[in-house]
Amino acid sequence: MADSYKYEHYKAVPAPAEKVNIKKKKPKLMAVVDEDNCTGCQVCVPFCPVDCIETVAVEKYGIPIPPVQVRFDECIGCQICARVCTKLTWDAIHMLPTAEFEETYNTTVAD
Ligand code: SF4
Ligand code: SF4
Repeated sequence: MADSYKYEHYKAVPAPAEKVNIKKKKPKLMAVVDEDNCTGCQVCVPFCPVDCIETVAVEKYGIPIPPVQVRFDECIGCQICARVCTKLTWDAIHMLPTAEFEETYNTTVAD
């Protein structure tokens, strides 16, 4: 198999974040983890440029490796985690338009 073919799959995956940034305005999209599908592998965590992906409290599911969740007020909607999860692991992160997110979860995302 040619080397170029071997690395084709990873082309859309960005590099892990070099430094942690912070949100400057309300994003258009929100990352939502499907906790039932997330393996808890944490592969997505170092890619988030604002470091807002964390492990769900162990007590919530009572399983050894809990899924992750996004601190939504810090998410900048960059979609990197969704791309990383889809490409490298399990496709457990979906991006929702922020208005839909607010309606679905009956909450308001901070500016
Ligand atoms: S990469 Fe996907 S499966 Fe792994 S912890 Fe992140 S959301 Fe869960
Ligand atoms: S979309 Fe994902 S990677 Fe981007 S800021 Fe939100 S949680 Fe972090």
